[in-house]
Amino acid sequence: MSIIKLKNVSKYYYNKGVIASGFTKINLEFSMGEFVAITGESGSGKSTLLNVISGLDTYEEGEMYINGKETSHYGETDFENYRRRYIGNIFQNFNLINSYTVYQNIELVLLLNGAKKSEIKDKVIELIKTVNLYKFRNTKVSKLSGGQKQRVAIARALAKDTPIIIADEPTGNLDSRSAKSIIKLLSEISKEKLVIIVTHNYEQVEDYVTRKIKMHDGKILEDKKIKDIDKNIKYNTNNYKNITKFEKLRLGIRNTFNIMPKFLLLLAVYLFIVVALMAEYSGFKEQEYIAENSGYNDYFQDTSDRRIVIKKEDKTSITEEDYQKLSNLDNVSYIVKNDILLDTSINMTDNNNFWIYGNAHNISNYNKDVDVGRLPKESNEVLVVGSKNDYYLNNMASELMKTDLYLQSIDTGEINKDLKLRIVGIKYTTSNNLYANSKIYLSDEAINTLKFEIYRKYSNIQVKFLDNYYTSDNSNNNFKVVPNNNVKSGSVYISGDLNNECKNNNCLGEKIQIEVTNLYYQDILNLTIEKTYDKKNIKNILNIDNYEDNNGCIYINPNDYNNLFNKDNYQSSIYIKDVDSVDTTISNLKDMGYNTLKVKDTLVKDNTSQMVKIFKTVVTICLVLTLFFISYFVIRIILKSRTVYFSTIRMLGATRKICKDLLIIELLNVANIAYFTFLIIIYMNYSDIINVGFIDTIIDYLKLSDYLLLYLILLGMSLLISMKFSKKLFKRSAITTIGEEV
Ligand code: ADP
Ligand code: MG
Repeated sequence: MSIIKLKNVSKYYYNKGVIASGFTKINLEFSMGEFVAITGESGSGKSTLLNVISGLDTYEEGEMYINGKETSHYGETDFENYRRRYIGNIFQNFNLINSYTVYQNIELVLLLNGAKKSEIKDKVIELIKTVNLYKFRNTKVSKLSGGQKQRVAIARALAKDTPIIIADEPTGNLDSRSAKSIIKLLSEISKEKLVIIVTHNYEQVEDYVTRKIKMHDGKILEDKKIKDIDKNIKYNTNNYKNITKFEKLRLGIRNTFNIMPKFLLLLAVYLFIVVALMAEYSGFKEQEYIAENSGYNDYFQDTSDRRIVIKKEDKTSITEEDYQKLSNLDNVSYIVKNDILLDTSINMTDNNNFWIYGNAHNISNYNKDVDVGRLPKESNEVLVVGSKNDYYLNNMASELMKTDLYLQSIDTGEINKDLKLRIVGIKYTTSNNLYANSKIYLSDEAINTLKFEIYRKYSNIQVKFLDNYYTSDNSNNNFKVVPNNNVKSGSVYISGDLNNECKNNNCLGEKIQIEVTNLYYQDILNLTIEKTYDKKNIKNILNIDNYEDNNGCIYINPNDYNNLFNKDNYQSSIYIKDVDSVDTTISNLKDMGYNTLKVKDTLVKDNTSQMVKIFKTVVTICLVLTLFFISYFVIRIILKSRTVYFSTIRMLGATRKICKDLLIIELLNVANIAYFTFLIIIYMNYSDIINVGFIDTIIDYLKLSDYLLLYLILLGMSLLISMKFSKKLFKRSAITTIGEEV
């Protein structure tokens, strides 16, 4: 019985509304053992006929029988199954994998048919020997001659182990000597199979073939038996199994590195995506961070997100012992004890030539070097950090450092002549903003003076006299509390006018209470009225010349006065190392009995910064999407070069899923390599082997979850591309796909 039978089969092509016929009403039967040559002029329908017989193309009319079974109802998968089990193809242009060696090309068919690499070595070598290419087994196919390539193609067709071999002009690209040996090889093969070839050159094959078919204009013109054949040939169809998972993985890895330029190009694109995505994203995070930490605030000048302000819940002062415990806390970087200084700007001036402005800091918190002069040693010595563009600090530095300076209150302009200061060191910043980062580093002693001034300035002083409260301030002399050396501790001198308020116009021996209240503490001083002053005795008892300008003031002992303001620290600031664990640190502080305030939370945002943030978010999203799609299309363009490969393995029997899986493995390999290269770059930047600015930003602003997200994006993109690409590949029949590419 014939293995293939065509009954009135016609093939039409529909092209943009025009119908062309490939061949019409063909009746043919083929049996095992035949070696059939099909001839005819170009365009007579030979290739079309072979493609229909191969199941590479469909037919429109009539019936084709395989082993007596009808095929007109066959779908795509039926034909794929048929091809796997029955058909081995040989093409005029070979359709080999050029980047594979001879061995790998033949091995590939067996792997795609479910064999294990380790078990097929002998079989592959035997097949290579059959086509006389043992010497070239490890040569890349691209280096072989045409005749040698066609031998590889034949060995590959034999490896598939199918009963039918179909060859469309297998000698079309060969010289006559090579052609002859190929034909000889095919005639050998035909003794156990059915071999159908198309040829232009019948003389070349006439000594070998058993049958000649001549076509003309889509019809059979001549069908002539040349030789007798053996009628009793037994055959087996190919026992196709899907490729094993392990071999698929191995093949995918081979394909990844097989064509180096393609691999490097893909790697470059993936690296570009990784770096660009991360740089863009971290840039965005940085912007967001800056926006979050900007804003204004009336109380705090240092609004760093690392600053936590603490006060004790019981309102007592913070002792050295407390500081010891605080500095032992996990996340604490350093503590600024005299916390109010951080939010205090001061001026140092000689009230003549120089005005040096800055934030007050304790010199014990300074740990860098100086650009001019030296670090302070004495309590009256000062270090200034300021802009190189500051005329005083730069051009006038030597003059400045020879001048006595005094602290001046920014608010009142009052100059404190008690404390004589000297600048001994200057450190320049690169900031263009003249005053933004200026700092004045002072000794403990100078800082205490400053603190005293600040406590005094921000305190509310009430004087309780005869059960009434009066406010003491600079706006008028009534009840203004003034220190005077002539007054004994515990005593107070009041004016004669006040004296008249008391019973019998005599207040001597009566009590006066001075109550100091500020943000940090409250203090009460009880005094006894010892003397009254008037115009006549003011010079004598208080050593004051002018009565009119001072009348109404109440005079107390300077030590008593100082004790009101010379207090310990009631408020300090803690600077933390890791901003992310600020909440843990705050709960630790609460457990230790402190009230806390995250300075960052006190920032007042303006609306424009919110608008800017929204705008930037939109821009970033657009950029990331653009980047993604550009990369996506570049990868698809690179993958186009793989179309031949995938069409070829498809013709060798690979299903769509196998093609997709191989592609996924290939892209995932590249994605992983790109990702780990990126991690290595990050690490090298981190450990200062290289130094790239935007990578520092990535390190600073991205968290572990961001790295994971990036990894997932890469994987997702690889899967998406693989799926789309294999879908496109399988949209058309293998023969059209490959025909277009070659
Ligand atoms: P041969 O192989 O004998 O040179 P073909 O089988 O390639 O001839 O072509 C037979 C006829 O079918 C020709 O008229 C050709 O133009 C037409 N044909 C072949 N392939 C296509 C196609 N993909 N679309 C439209 N017409 C086609
Ligand atoms: Mg042809």
